[in-house]
Amino acid sequence: MRRRVEVGVPHEPQNRMRACAALLVLLFVAQVATLQLRGQSTASVTLVKAARLLDPRTGNVLAPAAVLIEGDKVKQVGPSAQLTAPAGSRIIDLAAETLLPGLIDSHTHLFLDIIVPPELEQHRHYNGLFAPGMVLAIIESPSKRVLMGAQLAREDLDSGITTVRNLGHSGVDGDTELRDAINACRVPGPRILASGRKLITRGSYVQNLNPALADAILQQEFLLIDGADQARQAVRRNAFQNVDVIKVTADENLTVAELTAVTEEAHREHLKVAVHAVDGRSIQTAIDARADSIEHGNEATDEQVKQMRDKGIFLDMTPTFNDFFYLKVTEPSIVISPASRADAVSRNRRRKQQYDQLVQRVLKSGVKFAAGSDMCWFYPGKSRGQASVGTLIKLRDAGMPPLDVIRAITLSAAEMLGWQDRIGTIEPGKFADLIAVAGDPVGDVTELEHVRFVMKGGEVIRNSVAPPRQVLNGATR
Ligand SMILES: [Zn+2]
Repeated sequence: MRRRVEVGVPHEPQNRMRACAALLVLLFVAQVATLQLRGQSTASVTLVKAARLLDPRTGNVLAPAAVLIEGDKVKQVGPSAQLTAPAGSRIIDLAAETLLPGLIDSHTHLFLDIIVPPELEQHRHYNGLFAPGMVLAIIESPSKRVLMGAQLAREDLDSGITTVRNLGHSGVDGDTELRDAINACRVPGPRILASGRKLITRGSYVQNLNPALADAILQQEFLLIDGADQARQAVRRNAFQNVDVIKVTADENLTVAELTAVTEEAHREHLKVAVHAVDGRSIQTAIDARADSIEHGNEATDEQVKQMRDKGIFLDMTPTFNDFFYLKVTEPSIVISPASRADAVSRNRRRKQQYDQLVQRVLKSGVKFAAGSDMCWFYPGKSRGQASVGTLIKLRDAGMPPLDVIRAITLSAAEMLGWQDRIGTIEPGKFADLIAVAGDPVGDVTELEHVRFVMKGGEVIRNSVAPPRQVLNGATR
């Protein structure tokens, strides 16, 4: 007998289908509403106008300029007289400002905010390898640490840094989780390339720990390499955690065979390898094992710089010695004796000289380079973003022309990260990551310390220039 379908009570499967369809519509509407609440209108169009636009690739300045943005990507760039904003577009007129791509900090540590300890404390504990500030960061609550990372990420973004590569010191999964939380719009911050745990040999960091606890503490921050097999395993563990890059610290314990195992395994996983190497021997290990970038490279010889150029290895310069790193201890809020203060200043002078010479040799050599702040310190009176940008532009004090400094933290950095198709310039198809400054950053690179407008992926993060307006009736220019 056929089942009777009563009027007004639809057949059950049909009923379920309708309920599902209604639910899907509701979910879609809710999702669109949520995205709009978060400032990610699904198909929003924005026209940003400014007096000038700097192209770091050519050094050319377009004046006056406009950028048409659809969703989170740049659609068109050109003279403002030639770009048309369709009806309903948002117009942001930055008047006399100079637009340039969002900044990239290729080497940072968002989960470290070490305080220079008072002098007596340093003398009592500090043996150069114990590093109490770092131990404290590792053993403190990971929740507390990741919340601090979120704060420092926001401070970077506010200063115009729209992408960072976080190279270790983020606990077990701090940077991969913060990256995902930012991408899901849970917290504001720059795009993050996360390295997960740093690969080290035993002895590179925080020595003299309680032997009964040492491994448990070290595993919260590092993956230990002891032989080529373990090196491969370490890469696989990080790959399983969905990292974007592998970070290794090369010291005299690390062999070329171990590091080659890392680079081979990482490249198989389509991951680049960034190697911390400061002294000549470590730099040679990194070159021989075909690292993708050498971080710091302070003591690189001319011959090594040439080898890097020939193999296409990037030098990621970290100008922390240029009137910044050691001069932090001259801050009046840090307790230190006049003698130690004077000693720190003179050490800084020597290291600055060495670094200035490196910058000059690098510029002459033709090796590819980018720059990172290596910022991991609490700097009194400055946000993390201010301290980072302040460090990056110190390359100018080492004699680097401003346009090269700007390239090192935009275009070249994007290439080093392997993201040259996404960021680093303001071009159609790339993310709409833009900043604006009042003056001419090529004439005076310190303009970058006073960013007045920040946009990330089409979303306005900061605008202290002018409020946006809406085009309601018809197209306008
Ligand atoms: Zn570092």
